[in-house]
Amino acid sequence: MKIFVVNAGSSSLKYQLIDMENEQVLAKGLCERIGVTGAISHKAADGREYKAETPMPTHSEAFEAVVYALTKSDAKVIDSLDEVSAIGHRAVQGGSEFANSCLITPEVIAAIEEWSVLAPLHNPANILGIEACIKTFGDKIPQVAVFDTSFHQTMPPKAYMYSLPYKYYEKYKIRKYGFHGTSHRFVGNRAIELLGKENSKVITCHLGNGCSITAIKDGACVDTSMGLTPLDGFIMGTRTGTLDPSTITYIADKENLSFAEIDRICNKESGMFGISGVSNDNRDIGNAAANGNERAQLAIDMQRYQILKFIGSYVAAMNGVDAIVFTGGIGENDAELRKYVCENLAYLGVTIDDEKNAVRGKEVKISTDDSKVNVYIIPTNEELAIARDTLEIISK
Ligand code: AMP
Repeated sequence: MKIFVVNAGSSSLKYQLIDMENEQVLAKGLCERIGVTGAISHKAADGREYKAETPMPTHSEAFEAVVYALTKSDAKVIDSLDEVSAIGHRAVQGGSEFANSCLITPEVIAAIEEWSVLAPLHNPANILGIEACIKTFGDKIPQVAVFDTSFHQTMPPKAYMYSLPYKYYEKYKIRKYGFHGTSHRFVGNRAIELLGKENSKVITCHLGNGCSITAIKDGACVDTSMGLTPLDGFIMGTRTGTLDPSTITYIADKENLSFAEIDRICNKESGMFGISGVSNDNRDIGNAAANGNERAQLAIDMQRYQILKFIGSYVAAMNGVDAIVFTGGIGENDAELRKYVCENLAYLGVTIDDEKNAVRGKEVKISTDDSKVNVYIIPTNEELAIARDTLEIISK
């Protein structure tokens, strides 16, 4: 059975076609500049590639380009769309309505639309993706929504409430929702499998351009670092993470900034980029720091320190930890960061093996056999998680 996984952004569309017999990716690709110009780059598992610039005024034309790539191009992997059994969509904000992935119905689309107020950049793009799929694949094929927020729905109120007047929770549903849930669930479940015990305390660190850390007790999320939006938590590529809210009112007042400008500064101009002035990419910042750039070094020091503090706070929240997982582009590749964090958790009895820690992007236990806490690198695979959920739901 083949499942098509879609991650639709406002001007982009990432996709994978996965054969669920062996969970192998048959092809994957990316459409970019939707609504502006339009370009597709598509790659089959055997290395054949198809690239084209073609007008994509809307997501529908992007899907037409994808269908051509999948079924007709030199890098085609299927003869017809009939071979695709179902479509799984990455959806972002499901609010408190979706604690699990679900089959997409008109009611589900309406609910995703309703939750758009809390994810104005993401949810409308998800809907565009779903509607364009209906247009391209027809309305008979089952489509499933897998929400970034679902896994975090098990958080207790003491973890998800903000200490604002309660009426804002009642009126506007202001609370912590958390994101990257599909990734935390995927690597968290894998850690539980590796630990071999259901009753476990796991801390998963998804460290990429966006970063979040989640505390998982007995398989369920009990706290997570992202909040109402993916801006909360700790320093990211271009996002601030947690701030004293007064910094915002102060700067806005001094510089006469609008809400939209503040939003842009906090989301796009801050974080590792804002501190280093070099880049949002950890590799560039690492190189600059190695060449003596003090602000790049400061950004790196802040990143490592803030990650360490979040882990420490979740050890406290769960009264212990059995496993710590690193994932995401930074988590899977940055051995120095992992070493810093683990060395500063020595008080918990964490010890790591430097040779194992030198591994990049592969599943490996980097803690020593006598470490009191198991530390793993587990590459995340959100697309596979979405495909697995889709398969499970359509098999019911
Ligand atoms: P992601 O959003 O998960 O794709 O992760 C992107 C981040 O991973 C960027 O900051 C990259 O610099 C970082 N990254 C990717 N490869 C490496 C590497 N080999 N060493 C350090 N950071 C890396």
